[in-house]
Amino acid sequence: MMSTEIPQLHVMFLPFLGLGHMIPTLDMAKLFGARGVKTTIVTTPVNSPIFSKAIQRISKDLGVQIGIKIINFPCVEVGLPDGCENVDTIPKGETSMEMTINFFKAVSMLQESVEQLLSECKPNCLVADMFFTWANESASKFGIPRLFFNGSCSFSLCVPAACMIHEPHKHVSSDSELFVVPGLPGDIKFTRKQFPEFMLSNDDNNGFAKLLKKTNEEDLKSYGIVFNSFYELEPTYADYCRNVLGKKAWHIGPVGLCNRNFEDKAWRGKQSSIDEHECLKWLSSKKPDSVVYICFGTLAEFSFAQLMEIALGIEASGQDFIWVVRKNKKDEDGNEDWLPEGFEKRIEGKGLIIRGWAPQVLILEHESIGGMVTHCGWNSTLEGVTAGVPMVTCPLFADQFYNEKLVTQVLKIGVSVGVEEMRNMGVSAKREAIEKALKEIMVGDEAEEMKKRAKSLGLMARRAVEDGGSSCSDLNALIQELSSM
Ligand code: UDP
Repeated sequence: MMSTEIPQLHVMFLPFLGLGHMIPTLDMAKLFGARGVKTTIVTTPVNSPIFSKAIQRISKDLGVQIGIKIINFPCVEVGLPDGCENVDTIPKGETSMEMTINFFKAVSMLQESVEQLLSECKPNCLVADMFFTWANESASKFGIPRLFFNGSCSFSLCVPAACMIHEPHKHVSSDSELFVVPGLPGDIKFTRKQFPEFMLSNDDNNGFAKLLKKTNEEDLKSYGIVFNSFYELEPTYADYCRNVLGKKAWHIGPVGLCNRNFEDKAWRGKQSSIDEHECLKWLSSKKPDSVVYICFGTLAEFSFAQLMEIALGIEASGQDFIWVVRKNKKDEDGNEDWLPEGFEKRIEGKGLIIRGWAPQVLILEHESIGGMVTHCGWNSTLEGVTAGVPMVTCPLFADQFYNEKLVTQVLKIGVSVGVEEMRNMGVSAKREAIEKALKEIMVGDEAEEMKKRAKSLGLMARRAVEDGGSSCSDLNALIQELSSM
């Protein structure tokens, strides 16, 4: 890693309180730190261990210091259970929506504490996540630039931005009619059903829709945007962002590639529920490119019926697999009714179910992995791209529907399972569709073509972060610009 000694530059990172945002923020801080920049991560008491373990190790191994500042999260004040400081722990069930709104209310209340820190620490720049809608205002109070981090790619910023300008979704006769996103290259098509509520709702009483609308306005007001993506992956949309939306943008990813040793790749904020070595041993018993990795990120809550469909789809596809299922999938008697009768016996040797947290990066980069089923969270999508594997896409909410189109329509390294609707809590991915899509990415000439394209993108991703690569140069240019301000 190149080291440009600029000891006086101090960048403060304010990640959103969800693992999908904290993991890449920690990696960004490592990258800045490795270039001699002073870095500080701001988080809350319950979330601090997610960072501190990794921070201790890189301080010991690489001599890179990352500071951590803790601010209190007012969960109880807004009606959340004590200790509910991460989106992952928002209570599920009937009150889920109300609790989610409360969670974002608590996030909005952090402004004062963050400004207190800005005043004490005097950083030169604030890299704040999209959900801190007051961060531009806070940074400007202290005369420093705010960089916007949305945890996603240029493509997924450009789609809603282009739609807000041209409003194509207002000119269709039904929620399921396809429309093209005007002005955006690539003939990208969507239906209203696949769009987040904030794009469709004019209801000022809908707090969540209002918040999302505000995040999209604030990105354009920020000093610039940092993307965990690389230019060669989406050149057209990176250019659109800069030239049409007029934003300063730096593509500095895949930031996860800064993790070079086993421990850093194994620890992504949480302890794995399976011994990493055992898992890799199991994979090593398989042929190259023969196993599918199936995981739906950190937040997906599936109904038992949906899990059953996934299980049956995987089994019918005949592929070897690793399937990650979140742990709480048991009924009151401890039964796992979501698994088809006799499933585990039948898949013995063919499949591995990980209940809880998987060492995803280590798994994906194993040579036996030949495909992935993903919810299209951006981190997982980019990790799949970096690993050079074709994907079956099964988006659930948020930017995942945009990321799906990038994978399937633009990069052509994936097959959609055909989820039609964002707000579907029932069964949105049917077993036949899962089976079909899995076969399409794993077997036959089309699959081979997709694999070639995916592998070539994986190589580009690695090159981008090496010395002289586009992401490495973009990051150096960003540091240079901040230093000269
Ligand atoms: N992840 C992991 N093990 C798991 C599930 C997720 O390591 O069992 C990591 C994954 O590698 C990725 C992140 O958690 O870096 C999930 O981020 P993503 O944007 O894909 O999804 P989100 O959960 O935020 O929707």
